[in-house]
Amino acid sequence: NASSVSLADAAYVKISEGDFGYVLDDVPHLVDHLPDAPTYPNPLQDHPAYSTVKQYFVNEDDTVPQKVVVQKNSRRGVHFRRAGPRQKVYFESDEVKACIVTCGGLCPGLNTVIRELVCGLAHMYNNGYKGFYSSNYLTLTPKSVDDIHKRGGTVLGTSRGGHDTKKIVDNIQDRGINQVYIIGGDGTQKGAYEIFKEIRKRGLKVSVAGIPKTIDNDIAIIDKSFGFDTAVEEAQRAIDSAHVEACSAENGIGLVKLMGRYSGFIAMYATLASRDVDCCLIPESPFYMDGEGGLLQYVERRLKENKHMVIVVAEGAGQDLIAKSLSTSEQQDASGNKLLLDIGLWLTHKIKDHFKSKKMEMTIKYIDPTYMIRAIPSNASDNVYCTLLAHSAIHGAMAGYSFTVGNVNGRHAYIPFYRVTSTRNKVKITDRMWARLLSSTNQPSFLSQKDIDEAKENDRTANKPPLPTGLSHHVAN
Ligand code: ATP
Ligand code: MG
Repeated sequence: NASSVSLADAAYVKISEGDFGYVLDDVPHLVDHLPDAPTYPNPLQDHPAYSTVKQYFVNEDDTVPQKVVVQKNSRRGVHFRRAGPRQKVYFESDEVKACIVTCGGLCPGLNTVIRELVCGLAHMYNNGYKGFYSSNYLTLTPKSVDDIHKRGGTVLGTSRGGHDTKKIVDNIQDRGINQVYIIGGDGTQKGAYEIFKEIRKRGLKVSVAGIPKTIDNDIAIIDKSFGFDTAVEEAQRAIDSAHVEACSAENGIGLVKLMGRYSGFIAMYATLASRDVDCCLIPESPFYMDGEGGLLQYVERRLKENKHMVIVVAEGAGQDLIAKSLSTSEQQDASGNKLLLDIGLWLTHKIKDHFKSKKMEMTIKYIDPTYMIRAIPSNASDNVYCTLLAHSAIHGAMAGYSFTVGNVNGRHAYIPFYRVTSTRNKVKITDRMWARLLSSTNQPSFLSQKDIDEAKENDRTANKPPLPTGLSHHVAN
């Protein structure tokens, strides 16, 4: 229905011929811009800091391609809008009324993002999605957030569950908020997409900016999420302790459980960084305990060879094995996420039982540093990344866009919500990085030919880009 396509859509469609932006399968999808074109000159043009920059403003048509390596004769694939300040903005500075909300688990860097959002803007508010309709709002000023980036956690508070789209948008409307900054993981970004759709349905002039927070690095499309570097770095301390414990005992085993519900990036990178790890188990790579080529046999071999070993396990690994052996039913948290069973504890008992039955002396020390890692302040590189993410989010919201912001191939880009929420970023066990890990730990791959074929098939189908849902009124035919 072409009549429902706005001016911005039309301009967009014109430049969307071929592979641009959100054109998937040659169907132009939703543009993430408020209905009218931005009209106000960007006040940054008068800022002395920017006078030295050769080309400060980002050209409206600049894009960032999702794929950097393009094979011969293949299409260039999907592009995203390049993030950055625009020549014209949608809101005048003094009419901006912004709010910030943080949802989901803690992640190093949250306070840095909040600080940088506040320092770029003025009055703000807060505490999980419930925070939108609590009376407990917090007004933030550059002065009040001055040193919060040196602290872990989130000054706004966070929670799970309690997402009521209509109530949230009622509050946005009642309070006259026109920029909503939502910092959170996969669940939060899905929530942000729902809020965005409701805002569009009501025709409100509100920009929604999602800033992906996921310590697991499991958000699709983007190179890396903030807090991930800090988590990998802090995980080294736990691995070092496990190594010291293991080395100090006859047949000592140090077992470290790291974050990673569905994606084993922290475990993989922490293992690659440490070089003390003999086995890394992640959710993406199935493993088994008993028999030829199983984990127990490998542990036994390593102890015989080396007298000690270190195992790193991601929290989501081996869940099927535990569920089978304990025959427990699935439980959920307030946001509807599956509650995981403790793989570290389960492995500890399994390994102990195995060596007891073999009458072999051994000691196992299990370390779970999860909440210590989540609560630390972000490191230097994450601090810089958080700052840039916050600035990109502000520039996009000022220009009237609604999006999730993130680094794509090293460039900041505005990504439509549905692109980041419909799939999850996972370790590809058919990729070179996982092969590097296997060669660095020397662990068995635990994979049968059938597992490998399945993984390759999954990779092939996962390459198909997802389509937006529930936005038919924005789609031009
Ligand atoms: P993390 O898992 O990294 O800790 P998260 O953002 O995924 O972060 P959740 O607790 O799963 O954390 O979700 C945060 C908020 O998003 C919750 O308030 C939850 O109700 C809401 N939410 C989750 N999924 C959806 C969805 N599909 N639609 C609307 N809201 C959602
Ligand atoms: Mg989540």
